[in-house]
Amino acid sequence: MYDVVIIGGGPGGYASALYAHNFGLSVALVEKDSVGGTCLVRGCIPAKTWLQAAEVFTTVKRAAEFGVIASEPTFDWSAGLARKNQVVTGLVKGLSGLLKQRKVDVIDGFGRLDGPGRVIVNKGGEEQVLEARNVIVATGSVPRSIPNYDFDGVHIVSSDHALDWGAQPARVAIIGAGIIGCEFASMLVDLGSEVHVFDILDRIVPGVDTPAANELQKALKRRGVKFHLGVSVAPPVVGAGSVTVGFGDESVEVDTVLVAVGRGPLTSDIGLETTKVETERGYIHADRQTQMTAEPGVYAVGDVLAGVPGLAHGAFAEGIAAITFIATAEPAPVNYQALPNVIYTHPEVAEVGWSEEVAKEKGLDVEVHDHSFMGVGRAIIVGENKGTVRIVVEKDGPIVGASIVGPHAGEMIHELMYSVGWEALPAEAAAFIHAHPTLSEAVGETLISSTGRSLH
Ligand SMILES: Cc1cc2nc3c(=O)[nH]c(=O)nc-3n(C[C@H](O)[C@H](O)[C@H](O)COP(=O)(O)OP(=O)(O)OC[C@H]3O[C@@H](n4cnc5c(N)ncnc54)[C@H](O)[C@@H]3O)c2cc1C
Repeated sequence: MYDVVIIGGGPGGYASALYAHNFGLSVALVEKDSVGGTCLVRGCIPAKTWLQAAEVFTTVKRAAEFGVIASEPTFDWSAGLARKNQVVTGLVKGLSGLLKQRKVDVIDGFGRLDGPGRVIVNKGGEEQVLEARNVIVATGSVPRSIPNYDFDGVHIVSSDHALDWGAQPARVAIIGAGIIGCEFASMLVDLGSEVHVFDILDRIVPGVDTPAANELQKALKRRGVKFHLGVSVAPPVVGAGSVTVGFGDESVEVDTVLVAVGRGPLTSDIGLETTKVETERGYIHADRQTQMTAEPGVYAVGDVLAGVPGLAHGAFAEGIAAITFIATAEPAPVNYQALPNVIYTHPEVAEVGWSEEVAKEKGLDVEVHDHSFMGVGRAIIVGENKGTVRIVVEKDGPIVGASIVGPHAGEMIHELMYSVGWEALPAEAAAFIHAHPTLSEAVGETLISSTGRSLH
């Protein structure tokens, strides 16, 4: 009998398995495909590897600005794909080694609950029964599509397919201007593809701070992304080697259509009906303090959860919370208020806590302070001085949220994560001095101005 059996080896599942060693728990991790899950194999890591290739390509194209004379670069897609595969394989191998070192039994096969303390693993028709004191469901999510746009892997593709394209599509329609859609748009336009982005909403990256989203949209538009927002797409017309996407009276012809309209939980066939676990549209309800579901001894973490952002680092934190509760009976709730969210487009967008809109919806009296990268020395040096740091402060109270659009926003957001998480007052946070010349000085300047004074 294992202390914990985990179904699903993505960030939620593998973080639970790794963290369990701190308490000497015996663990089996059931995975039907590859440890690492969406994040390592079909999500965060491969997507960011492609975005990095696009960034290097853009930097080389701009080399002459810095006095570096290089010939006009071309992009070798198959070399980019090979590097992406190499990065993924290396990380999966490293993770497998670490799981082995931590004495986690990784069991290859499809896991299904058979009552609260039993998991049946099916591998090619052969069944193995695992008995468990606790089960963690971490089966994650899969790409969703829209009516008439069923994935065929060629004309209509999901992010899973797009990360493995064998050749660069010259013309792409992306349906869905969310985070994944915009990251692909940023990467593809920088590598020279013609990119059309469609969304039924009249804005991009819904849920993200509106001024930050507008800045991102402007930057992508300047580089050539064509946005068709507030439109509904007609069924695709697939021709020989092309697809036509209609909207209103207009249409565009592209080589392929990437549907990036969100993801859905993978919980339909995992035996939840043999337990008291409660679900809503397939998402699992779990207690926010402990990650326990309505079935004692059955926990859920990651993308399967109802009402949480589908993020890899959120899944890590939920795994840590579940294991801590299993081992100690002490709740270790995830601080979602201070969970950063990063969009790895060019420019990057990062945020934490509440935007001005959300804070106001929650009834808070807030003020916003911002500082542009325009005059920041390091930003001018690196040639990336467009963007803004913005913080949201409760009147006479703490910092409740922040967003950054600009170079390395995803790295810089973490100091504001501490400010939000520790409910720092502006004067407390502004008292620390940022090194010069750094990009983070833009954060320091914003903090100083939030005290009612300003420097530059
Ligand atoms: C293109 C893309 C880019 C992304 N970029 C980011 C990013 O930059 N940052 C970020 O935080 N998040 C990002 N995400 C989201 C992130 O990948 C997910 O939030 C994260 O992977 C969720 O982890 P999980 O463990 O819940 O599920 P998953 O990673 O989906 O893992 C679930 C695992 O369970 C396995 N499984 C499912 N059912 C069974 C079963 N019955 N038996 C055995 N095994 C099973 C699956 O094979 C899979 O390996 C991105 C996603 C995509 C698609």
